[in-house]
Amino acid sequence: NTHLVWLRNDLRTHDNYALHAACRDSQANVIALFIDTPGQWKKHGMAPRQALFLWHSLQDVQDSLAQKGIALYQESADDFHAAVKKLVAFCKKHNVDRLFYNYQYEVNERDRDAQAECELGDADVEVQGFDDSVLFAPGSIQTGGQAMYKVFTPFSQAIIKRLHQELPTCVNAPTVRESAPITRKPLLKKFDYPCEEYDETVFPSGEQAAMERLRQFCRTSVTDYPKQRDIPAQDGTSRLSVYLALGVLSPRQCLHRVLAEHPRVLDGGAALVWLTEIIWREFYRHLLVAWPDLCKHRPFVNWTRNIRWQKNEHHLQAWREGKTGYPIVDAAMRQLKTLGWMHNRLRMISASFLVKDLMLDWRTGERHFIEHLIDGDLAANNGGWQWAASTGTDAAPYFRIFNPTTQSERFDASGDFIRRWVPELKDVPDKNIHAPHEWAKKNRQKLAYPAPIVEHKAARKQTLDAFEAAKNQQ
Ligand code: FAD
Repeated sequence: NTHLVWLRNDLRTHDNYALHAACRDSQANVIALFIDTPGQWKKHGMAPRQALFLWHSLQDVQDSLAQKGIALYQESADDFHAAVKKLVAFCKKHNVDRLFYNYQYEVNERDRDAQAECELGDADVEVQGFDDSVLFAPGSIQTGGQAMYKVFTPFSQAIIKRLHQELPTCVNAPTVRESAPITRKPLLKKFDYPCEEYDETVFPSGEQAAMERLRQFCRTSVTDYPKQRDIPAQDGTSRLSVYLALGVLSPRQCLHRVLAEHPRVLDGGAALVWLTEIIWREFYRHLLVAWPDLCKHRPFVNWTRNIRWQKNEHHLQAWREGKTGYPIVDAAMRQLKTLGWMHNRLRMISASFLVKDLMLDWRTGERHFIEHLIDGDLAANNGGWQWAASTGTDAAPYFRIFNPTTQSERFDASGDFIRRWVPELKDVPDKNIHAPHEWAKKNRQKLAYPAPIVEHKAARKQTLDAFEAAKNQQ
């Protein structure tokens, strides 16, 4: 019997449901396949840094699988449609009897998988899929009325209640197959897709590095998380997002690790604050399945389709480049450009600025983030953008508009983060760094830093008017 594991966004050997199931029969010949799809990635806007991280993760998982006696092959196809053809041909060539794979929840991915199941069924290959990138299967956490939750807090409470009843199990990495480790691994060839270097000291690739970071974070930092997580100058969050986005790590591993260090985490306390972020991730994944429209650039709240967004290439460019004249926004956008990662508080501030101060369509920002984030993930990114734009489920109410200057004073009080990314402001005193031009004017200083491209108060009024007009149109 030949069992094939079709790897996609699950590049790990530990706690991988499809891999584990494929290996259950000790007599089976187990092989694995990854199909790169550069044309599809281009359409989805995958960041070149994420592509390189994916490439490194693929090499890492091939090494780990080889040690277990499992050969990982690679095929290339332009898009998902072509990938299915390659998969079917591969199954034929290798006499595959059974295919194992972990579900993805975005619409193009689901269409691809439905097509694959259909064509493989015709070819007499038995196919089995798994809900692996989540704690619980989407659709299995429901309100009393058997519907998906639209609000996060009751969803989160329902998850915690379920976790008290049953913990999703973490499955082991496969043991070495009887066929013994593989000495000659199949050739992996570089993706025909732009790849960009990233800082490997910040994001070391590989499953071991991911598990080590998780262990370290749960042991030493998770208790400070509630105090530190909103301060971008501090390294107070886990920085596990890239591993979770590409499936180098699973949310169940996060759950069990935090439970091992903090056995009472489900009852509350600092570690639960962190676990709640993993539940936010879960919430957005479940939402994609309940409302596939979210994958199609559509807002959750219908009337927000009526909003008349502005078109201003100059403003958009200033935002992208970190030259808006609002230091906290600019520092954030420069962090994104340089690192391919941005702190969560800053994602909220810079997204809010694009939508509520510049009145530019949130989808432009969503796309820019995906094109630059090493941890880009449709569900979380769309969820974050629709939250900031007040177009999503359980989003920030449209009339509550972040003031970028007060956000800056609150979360980067002494300007440490701003100075790191906006060196033009290094000599501005702490308390003035959030609105440096006011200080420069008073003190007759010249700043080599752009003046604010909009005035917050006026922009706020304009946004409120535009949202109200759209709401009144429904
Ligand atoms: P931690 O604070 O340590 O959190 C642990 C894990 O929980 C994260 O790694 C992530 O997997 C998950 N998580 C945390 N916050 C959220 C959240 N608000 N929504 C969903 N999952 C969350 N996250 C992505 O993984 N990919 C994205 O493309 C993405 N885009 C975003 C866009 C906007 C506008 C906003 C506001 C948020 C976005 N987030 C995204 C969520 C969040 O900002 C990042 O997950 C977080 O900053 C990653 O850093 P960390 O790993 O140190 O997080």
